[in-house]
Amino acid sequence: MMNTRRFYIYTWGCQMNEHKSEGMAGVLVRAGYLPADDPAHADVVLFNTCMVREKPVEKVYSEAGVIALLKEKNPDLILGVGGCVAQALKEKLFQRSPAIDFVFGSSNISELPRLIEQVRARRALGKPGWVMAVDKIPDKIEELPFLRASRFQAKVTIAEGCSNFCSFCIVPYTTGLLRSRLPGDIIAEVRQLADQGYKEVQLLGQNVDAYGKDLNDPQITFASLLRALTEIPIPRIRFTSSHPQDITKEVIELLGEENNICEHLHMAVQSGSNKVLSDMRRGYTKEHFLELVEALRERNVNVTTDIIVGFPTETEEDFQETVDLVKRARFGGAFIFKYSPRPKTVAFYKYRDVVPEEEKQRRLEILLTLQKQITDEENRKRVGATVEVLVEGLARQKGLLMGKTRDNRTVVFEGSPELIGELVKVRITDGSVAGLVGELSPGPSPIRGGEPHDLTRSLSASGEGQGEVEGQGEVGVRLGL
Ligand code: SF4
Repeated sequence: MMNTRRFYIYTWGCQMNEHKSEGMAGVLVRAGYLPADDPAHADVVLFNTCMVREKPVEKVYSEAGVIALLKEKNPDLILGVGGCVAQALKEKLFQRSPAIDFVFGSSNISELPRLIEQVRARRALGKPGWVMAVDKIPDKIEELPFLRASRFQAKVTIAEGCSNFCSFCIVPYTTGLLRSRLPGDIIAEVRQLADQGYKEVQLLGQNVDAYGKDLNDPQITFASLLRALTEIPIPRIRFTSSHPQDITKEVIELLGEENNICEHLHMAVQSGSNKVLSDMRRGYTKEHFLELVEALRERNVNVTTDIIVGFPTETEEDFQETVDLVKRARFGGAFIFKYSPRPKTVAFYKYRDVVPEEEKQRRLEILLTLQKQITDEENRKRVGATVEVLVEGLARQKGLLMGKTRDNRTVVFEGSPELIGELVKVRITDGSVAGLVGELSPGPSPIRGGEPHDLTRSLSASGEGQGEVEGQGEVGVRLGL
């Protein structure tokens, strides 16, 4: 074991990228590598990149500079770059950062050990290490031996790519058109996770509601997949992200039924102006979105969202429409971003990025302040309720645990670290913009909503950043943005 090679993976972007990193780790472990606790102790460093925003691209180059310094001490160190940036920029990456040794595409993860050996072989021959394995966007999802980061929460990709082509979004250009996995494969994977004792599964897709549309079988829909998964004895099923254009009545109904599907929906609205929504090619109106929110609220589903401010055609009146929508929708949390033009997209070619940076910032801050106030008020309403919490780990505050309700609100409370990975009952004693505070509630078995009042069901779900109000770039990006 003394000579075992070690790897370190940086991950940018959404949960799908995090899950891809679990696949990269699994492939390397299968090839005999071990994870390193620090890039300075690694033989191979991988960047799993994201290109949805501009900043993460710059981050790739600045982190490559850090690895270049490590290479001065350890010339055998190998740096590989995969993910959206690799898929889009290919050999340009070598030109901009000579510290990068190889670039790999979305369908080359299982080839990682071979690519690494290729770099080594070239070096041994005194040739530049550059190796590239990105030809085109794959037409099928790679099956990988995932090394899951958690023993109780698992991510399961149900589809990759997106065929919607929203005018601001680069995803269809970097990850390709929608490709759904077969329902039988997904059901088998979730069943296996249930057998292994996992408590929660998060289904991932750029737009989960479009699941199955490429499989040409009207029986295969996201609702039919969810319905099948309710039969599996796993306590919690989550999914992200939902699209207001594609979500169906059946999915909304499933969220309202007594089953293992958590009552949280991350559904990006992007704007409250019908004109801007049309220019963004989103395929729905503000009125339709608010109807969906109403239907979800009736089922005590906590809705969180993404918003873009400063889209090129967004006037002050349009922005005020978004402010109005946020006031009416009362999101449990929101990720708010300033528009940044992405090459290849329709908006990049059609519009100039005319909203000044300081105006984008002003709009961002107005929405952040408003959303913080709403999150604070909504969390305070939960005081007194007893909720089911999946204990995820230690809280930042010493001696406290942190977990998520079924509707994806963060709760901190006192308890033994042995509870990590368990479902417990917690009585909420305080709520604020930061989340909920509670105390362990005695009782033999966890509850799953319904008491002491109907708000309790909306106190149950987890996922991404719920209960938080995020500004641009602080948490990476949500799926589908
Ligand atoms: S924003 Fe979402 S739905 Fe629109 S193109 Fe991007 S990934 Fe697809």
